[in-house]
Amino acid sequence: MTTSASETIESAFLRQQPVKMLIGGQWVEAASGKTFETLNPATGKVLAHVAEGDAEDINRAVAAARKAFESGPWPKMTPSQRGRLLWRVAELIEEHADELAMLETLDNGKPIKYSKASDVPLTADHFRYFAGWATKIEGETIPVSIPNMLTYTLREPLGVVGQIIPWNFPMQMASWKLAPALAAGNTVILKPAEQTPLTALRIGELICEAGFPDGVVNIVPGYGHTAGAALAAHLDVDKIAFTGSTEVGKKILQASAGNLKKITLELGGKSPNIIFPDADLKWAVRGALTAIYFNSGQICTAGSRLFVHQSIYDETISQMAEAAAAMKVGEGVDPATEMGPVITQEQLDRVSGYIETGRREGATARAGGERVGGDLADGFFLRPTVLDQVTDEMTVAREEIFGPVVVALPFEEIEEVAARANRSIYGLAAGVWTSDIKKAHKMVSLLKSGVVWVNTYNQFDAAAPFGGYRQSGYGREMGHAVLDAYTQIKTAWINLR
Ligand code: ADP
Repeated sequence: MTTSASETIESAFLRQQPVKMLIGGQWVEAASGKTFETLNPATGKVLAHVAEGDAEDINRAVAAARKAFESGPWPKMTPSQRGRLLWRVAELIEEHADELAMLETLDNGKPIKYSKASDVPLTADHFRYFAGWATKIEGETIPVSIPNMLTYTLREPLGVVGQIIPWNFPMQMASWKLAPALAAGNTVILKPAEQTPLTALRIGELICEAGFPDGVVNIVPGYGHTAGAALAAHLDVDKIAFTGSTEVGKKILQASAGNLKKITLELGGKSPNIIFPDADLKWAVRGALTAIYFNSGQICTAGSRLFVHQSIYDETISQMAEAAAAMKVGEGVDPATEMGPVITQEQLDRVSGYIETGRREGATARAGGERVGGDLADGFFLRPTVLDQVTDEMTVAREEIFGPVVVALPFEEIEEVAARANRSIYGLAAGVWTSDIKKAHKMVSLLKSGVVWVNTYNQFDAAAPFGGYRQSGYGREMGHAVLDAYTQIKTAWINLR
């Protein structure tokens, strides 16, 4: 089944060509007049032409964001007014749920059932959760030991915030970035990923409709090495919030040195998912499948190292391989699809290259291991892959593949598996499957990662902090923890004598 975008979506937004960028409350073409193509990864065909922002557009957007931060209605708004605007965005997202879900599926490739059940509602939830926080960002009174002093703190916004996001969850990533920054009173320049700019721009329209003042939110699509790099280096940007690869995260850190802008980085992972022999095996296998194949494995928390206790290893890997082979891979627009394509030809080549490297180093594919042909040959489809006969030292067991490829590794002891799980440059997430409550808590304490899921995997909630240890990043998103990353503390001393 091959469906053209215009047949699938009734969106005036998609019919405007090129899709424009949002600067200072205006929808404009790039200063250079250039555009770039965004493709449908299920068909390899062009979905839309989009204004291609570069350094000049970033300069304009930063100027608009600075103006909106310093003057006009935004800095005068009460926290309650900011909260209402964010709440209104959540309502508008829900009113346009079907359109946004389809746009996300067409641009990213993910199954429509997940765009509908997960991406759209979680995006709306994020705005609603942070709408509540706008009125709860409090300072403290400090009992200093100097007589007659009233000493208190204020939490003030940082100012102009640049936000650079990836292509795997385009809409949710936009909400993770925008909602807390705006709740805290900052102004924003968001740069969506060049592969998937559409839903962030559509949400930009909804933000305008909600009534945010001009220049508070600017959205500049474009490439990483031009628009992204210009934003990261800009001397009038006070903070960069970045989600993406560890490699680019390091570049963002270097670029921040010019004006010592604050940064938060949510980077890669190579997450262990550990099945103990006392686990409910049916659920554990189901969980392990979701952990790796959800979003075609293109999720920084992917449970890509599957540790299975020696005593149940053969049975578990057989079940896993059988279930992986039975998964329905297809176009995201088909409601029966369980796994969509990977994002680009480049990503398809990269992931296939890892599978080849794995084979060369001695691994065997128990399921998958190749591209999908037939009707799906024009899209970027890979079969869900299970690699067996792997050792911890192999490339496929150490590097982030960011595709539907899991490596299976047997283990014997709890301390041994915890030590092996922790032996990684990353520390983003981990999964544990056991029916022993003591073992569960022990593993939570032993695993060195920002999130540990027990008898579940890939759970996210706007209220629960998320972020990495080691080279998986700096700072936390979600929950009130993220507000620390979008505010700065001012201490006031009042002499009452
Ligand atoms: P991925 O490997 O998942 O594509 P990247 O880290 O390359 O992740 O990209 C994540 C985001 O970072 C995208 O919006 C991309 O355009 C942007 N980006 C890439 N290179 C740079 C750079 N040098 N400076 C700033 N942003 C960049």
